[in-house]
Amino acid sequence: MWRTIGHEWAIALLQRAIDTGRVSHAYLFTGPANVGKTHLAKEMAAALNCAGDASPCGSCRACLKTARGTHPDVFLVEPGNGSIKIDQIRQLQRQLALSPYEGRQRIAIIADFQAATVQAANALLKTLEEPPSRVVLLLAAVDASLLLPTIVSRCQVLPLRGLSCQQIERALIGRWHERPDLARLLSKVSGGRIGWAISAT
Ligand SMILES: [Zn+2]
Repeated sequence: MWRTIGHEWAIALLQRAIDTGRVSHAYLFTGPANVGKTHLAKEMAAALNCAGDASPCGSCRACLKTARGTHPDVFLVEPGNGSIKIDQIRQLQRQLALSPYEGRQRIAIIADFQAATVQAANALLKTLEEPPSRVVLLLAAVDASLLLPTIVSRCQVLPLRGLSCQQIERALIGRWHERPDLARLLSKVSGGRIGWAISAT
């Protein structure tokens, strides 16, 4: 069961791709900071290697390891010192060239890809043009217009929007046991950014 809050249409699309065996080589999640892009990408990574019945089950070894960031076939790349550099992409490519160690797929999650240098973006383009088998790339960026068009055109783009106040309020009360008055206040000032609202509790 997916635990991502909101973004129901994107979850339905990803679940359908898994169920029908038609998973794309690359997805690009776009949307404001703290709207849940990387969280959804991590759940997709878990779902792709999940051994449970209703993937992502959240309780099998693959799901637990992916959530903890210790799955040997799931690689997370984030900006270091403000940018994603070509060395990070080259290291990732070496890892993706190997067969999956214990999962069905090797999965790269690249957060804040708008922070990639031109050299890093061009290096990743080669992987997008000739994706290794059993590899899925999950990119996240604030806006597709900040990326090379050649990158965007090779990804299935999932534009995520901010959540409604009601969704955030319900989640803060139901999942994070926040006081109702505080949950309402936080949901109103969050601007739809669930990650921000959670970090403020
Ligand atoms: Zn699972």
